[in-house]
Amino acid sequence: MSRPVEKLIQAFAKLPGVGEKTATRFVFFLLRADKQIAGDLGEALKELHEKIKLCSICCNITDRDPCRTCSDPRREAHLLCVVEEPSDVTAIEKTGSYRGWYHVLHGAISPLDGIGPDDLKIRELLERLKDARAKEIILATNANVEGDATSLYLTQLLRPLGLRLSRLSLGLPVGSELEYIDPSTLARALEDRREIR
Ligand SMILES: [Zn+2]
Repeated sequence: MSRPVEKLIQAFAKLPGVGEKTATRFVFFLLRADKQIAGDLGEALKELHEKIKLCSICCNITDRDPCRTCSDPRREAHLLCVVEEPSDVTAIEKTGSYRGWYHVLHGAISPLDGIGPDDLKIRELLERLKDARAKEIILATNANVEGDATSLYLTQLLRPLGLRLSRLSLGLPVGSELEYIDPSTLARALEDRREIR
């Protein structure tokens, strides 16, 4: 196979869920399809790291700093929802039932993968809580081992601050990740959140 084709197949094959076979299909599709499609894809990929950065307040990905959520005065500043990934913010926003703020950790504690608290945006969380108006922290980590470990760690860390700490209600399937939960179930888990005592 010619070098550019091979190179693009290898690049696609590195994406999660895309094997060599699918990567090859992508490349041959792009070769056959309108040149504009490949052009748009190339442009979008080029801009991704140039234009996307982390919000200096919530650590979510954004093309402007502070992000739209952090600069929206209508958000309820007394509520702060801590999530693992930017995709979790998207999932919660889709429920339409949460109007508070967010903090994105960019991962979860996972000793097996060598990920500890220092690898997450926890320092940034503590920093913003110094002068934040937050009264309640909702620990919305995933309902799996790593999410539970992260939530437990944060509970111990944040308890001395005297804020109300809560977790999403039970009823989420064990082992589930927020981004795959349907919006109505997630909305209920948020509304029925329970205080951690
Ligand atoms: Zn933000």
